[in-house]
Amino acid sequence: MLKKSKYNIIFDLENGESKMIANSLYGAADVLNSSEYGQYQTDDFSDPMWRERGYAVVPEEEQQAFQTQYMDFIDSRDTEEIQLFFVPTYNCNFGCDYCYQSEYTSSASVYEPAVVDAFFDYIGSEFAGRKKYCTLFGGEPLLPNEKAVQLVSYFLSKAKAHGLETAIVTNGFHLKKYLPVLKESLIREVQVTLDGTREVHNKRRPLKGGGNTFDEIVEGVDALLNAGLSVNLRMVVDSDNIGSLADLAAFAIDKGWTKAPGFKTQLGRNYELHSCQKNGQALYSRVQMYEELKDLIEKHPHILEFHTPSFHFVKSLRDNGELPAALFDSCPGCKTEWAFDYQGNIYSCTATVGKQDEVLGTFFPHVTKHDDDIEGWQDRDILAIEKCRDCNLALVCGGGCGSVAKNQNGSVSTPDCRPVKEVAQTGARLFFTPDGELRRLK
Ligand code: SF4
Ligand code: SF4
Repeated sequence: MLKKSKYNIIFDLENGESKMIANSLYGAADVLNSSEYGQYQTDDFSDPMWRERGYAVVPEEEQQAFQTQYMDFIDSRDTEEIQLFFVPTYNCNFGCDYCYQSEYTSSASVYEPAVVDAFFDYIGSEFAGRKKYCTLFGGEPLLPNEKAVQLVSYFLSKAKAHGLETAIVTNGFHLKKYLPVLKESLIREVQVTLDGTREVHNKRRPLKGGGNTFDEIVEGVDALLNAGLSVNLRMVVDSDNIGSLADLAAFAIDKGWTKAPGFKTQLGRNYELHSCQKNGQALYSRVQMYEELKDLIEKHPHILEFHTPSFHFVKSLRDNGELPAALFDSCPGCKTEWAFDYQGNIYSCTATVGKQDEVLGTFFPHVTKHDDDIEGWQDRDILAIEKCRDCNLALVCGGGCGSVAKNQNGSVSTPDCRPVKEVAQTGARLFFTPDGELRRLK
C-alpha cells in the first residue's frame, strides 16, 4: 500500500493554484496542477508517476532508502576535506557595530612561532592522511604591525611546507601590504567583506576610532585579482544595508570583478549569535531576508550576475534540474571543521572559537581533549536530535547550527530549525513560473 513520503515538501506557486512538490530523499521536484494535487490529497496514487518520483512510497522501502543514503553520507564525510581555522589574534582594527566578537575578552597576542609549530604538529598527527586546508581567521589576521606580518608569514610558509593551502578571512584593509607574502604562499582564497557601496560600507565598517575603509579594501581586491589570487567577496546583510546590494553588484560588474577567474561572492545574514546587537531592529529573519532578496532581484536582475542566493534547494533545481543530495547533518563542527587559536585552545568552529566555555582541549603547550564534549559535537545529526527524526524538512535543513542550538536550548544535540518551506517557496516564485518553466528575469 503506497503512502505519502515522509519527506515531501509542498508549497503554493505564485498563482496559488499550482503547487511545487519536492522530495530530498529521492532528489525530485515537480509542479502539480490542481487535479494532480487533488489526487495527492486523496492518496490516489494510481498514476505511476507518484511512485517513480518518490512522492508515494512503501514505508519500509523508504526507510531502507534512508538508511542506505545515510550510510553513504557518513562514509563520504569520513573522506571529505577538513577545514582547520587558526586565529592568530582576536584583536581587530575595525569597529563594526555588529561584530559578535566585540565582547570577547582578549589578551594581547604575542608572536609565538612555537604555537604555530605545535598547531602543524597537532594537525599532522590528528588528521594524518585526511585531505585538509587551513584558514586564517580573527579578530583580524592581517594587521599592519611587524609582529603580525611575521606571524602570518611564518604560518603561511609552514602551511606551504606541509603542502597545505590556506584561505584567509580578512576585513581587507591591509591586503596591499600583505600581497608580496600572499603571492609566495599557497592561497586558496581570500574572503573580504564589503557591506555595500562606499557610503553604506564606511558607515558600518569603519576603522576603530573612526576612518573610512571602502577605498582601501577595493584597491586590495583589485590587487589580489590582478595577481591571480581568488577573492570571495562577502556582504553581511540586514535591513540597514540590503538596499545597497543592487549598487554594490553594479559596482563589482563595472570593475570587471564578476568576470575575473576566481571571483565569487556570498551573502551572510547578520544575526544574533552570542550577544545582543547594538541595533537589533535591523536584523532580518531568514524568511524576511529571502523575501527582500526576491523583491530586489525582480527589480534589479543584474544582482544575479553578482550573486545568486540558493533558496535552499531551489537554485540547484534551477541550474541542474534536481535537488542537492540529502543533508543528514548541516553542522560540520568537530567533523570536517575545527578551530584553533594562538593561545593553544581547540574549538569546534568559527562560531565558538574564542569563547572560554567552548574550549574543547588544547594543542599547546600540551595536548588535552575534552572527549565527552567533542563526542557531543561529533554525534550531532538529524538522527541524534529527537525533533528532527520526524521532521519532513530534515533532509534539507540538516538540523541547523549546533552553536545556535546550544545558545538557544543549552545543548548541541537540539534543533536549530530552518524555515525551509518558506524560503524554498520564495525562491521557486522567483525562478519558476506557475507552470514550472524558468522565469525570464532579464
Ligand atoms: S556550530 Fe554552526 S557555525 Fe559552527 S560548524 Fe556548526 S553550523 Fe557551522
Ligand atoms: S532543526 Fe527543526 S526544521 Fe530542521 S530538521 Fe530539525 S526539526 Fe526539522
